[in-house]
Amino acid sequence: MEYEAVIGLETHVQLSTKSKIFCSCSTSFGAEPNSNTCPVCIGMPGVLPVLNRQVAHRAIKVGLAVGGKIAKWTKFDRKNYFYPDLPKGYQISQYDLPIVDGGKLDILVDGAHKTIGITRIHMEEDAGKLIHGENLGDPSSSYVDLNRAGVPLLEIVSEPDIRSSEEARRYMDKLKTILQYLEVSDCNMEEGSLRCDANISVRPVGQKEFGTRAEIKNVNSFRYLQKAIDFEIKRQCALLDEGGTVVQETRLYDEKNDRTISMRGKEEAHDYRYFPDPDLPPLVIGDEWVEQVRSELPELPDAKAQRFMADYGLPEYDALVLCATRVTAAYFEEAAKGAKSPKVVSNWVMGEVLRVVKEKGAAPDTIPVTPAMLAKMVGMIESGAISGKIAKTVFEEMATSGKDPEKVVEEKGLAQITDTSSIEAEVDKILAANPTQVADYKAGKVKLIGFFVGQVMRATRGTASPDMVNSILKEKLK
Ligand code: ADP
Ligand code: MG
Ligand code: ZN
Repeated sequence: MEYEAVIGLETHVQLSTKSKIFCSCSTSFGAEPNSNTCPVCIGMPGVLPVLNRQVAHRAIKVGLAVGGKIAKWTKFDRKNYFYPDLPKGYQISQYDLPIVDGGKLDILVDGAHKTIGITRIHMEEDAGKLIHGENLGDPSSSYVDLNRAGVPLLEIVSEPDIRSSEEARRYMDKLKTILQYLEVSDCNMEEGSLRCDANISVRPVGQKEFGTRAEIKNVNSFRYLQKAIDFEIKRQCALLDEGGTVVQETRLYDEKNDRTISMRGKEEAHDYRYFPDPDLPPLVIGDEWVEQVRSELPELPDAKAQRFMADYGLPEYDALVLCATRVTAAYFEEAAKGAKSPKVVSNWVMGEVLRVVKEKGAAPDTIPVTPAMLAKMVGMIESGAISGKIAKTVFEEMATSGKDPEKVVEEKGLAQITDTSSIEAEVDKILAANPTQVADYKAGKVKLIGFFVGQVMRATRGTASPDMVNSILKEKLK
């Protein structure tokens, strides 16, 4: 039987507000355990939560960025469950009236555009963290750190529009890009600022109804997300082929063995006994507030990519790569401003600049090669002052020393030799030194041209204009 996968993602984004969602404790990561806590976020009786306005502000921002509808009236609900990292015995979340309703994201898969629907976005508080003693040489104990309790989260729920692990990956990439443009979250996956649950089912190709889904909890890297989905699709298909049935359950991805394992039966909404939180008044969102947030929206990645294609004549692929982060896009624009061929600048940014960025683990705006230096170097290629090949050496030197490209070329004697007489002199020397190859060439082994070009280039340390070397050689070998 041939099957098709159906996938919906629930993404939790930790907002980078200074303080928590319902109290003024700091949200800073890595503080001494339980130091960022107060009676509100450790759930003491009698305290009252107060909504952090910034949390709703950012939720509205994300909602507008994905084209969702902002609620005029929204409320908070209690989601009741017992767990040691949740001292109140309930999480304050939003149930039937989330702050954002609907929305969508555009992804590019194998050159084709696809729209993934967003069902809803709601605000909620994070729970604390359990640290199990076995990792600390103390297997009989577990420790509770409530620094994370009350840290603001947005939960972004997608429609079941995703059909493969590749599409899931693209969706997460795009979501992360948008969140970073909006500066609402640092999206640091290692620190848990971006986590996602994947709901996966399969159905025979052609069948309309969805199959039963399994939910894989808290996958914290894009690579593992893809692997977990691929494994789960295979598992469910094999199960159905054997005549079995998929049970609705929560599963965990086991990275070490690249498989998913059953964690618990899936809880239903009614298990949580949701009800409106009586401690928090409903939140009424006026049009002025929404318009205020709208006016703060930056140029978003898709719009920027469209503009790069129109203004700089870039292929869509380049535009999307450059616009994946705001700083890379800004770097490109700065360098491409006066360039004759923005596409050449794009090649350098996508290639060498992003390579250095990755190697140094730095941001494009902090590497030694500034956009102005890159622009100057590309100008030197365009004017024929250096060859494209030599430019690699120049770039490398700029990336280590931070020196101006002209200075590098001057100091290292890398200027392209374009005067005919000196190239002719080099060619004559090489031909005189290799009589056998010259004879072979003249006898018909024309492939030897490559050998001669290589020799001349070596003798000139790559600085001779390759085009000129080629034509002068051919002329002399006639
Ligand atoms: P819950 O909150 O109980 O996990 P939701 O109805 O909110 O359930 O759905 C959660 C996610 O599961 C959504 O992203 C949705 O698109 C996805 N989903 C729902 N049904 C299916 C299905 N049959 N197969 C795959 N994904 C599904
Ligand atoms: Mg779920
Ligand atoms: Zn607190």
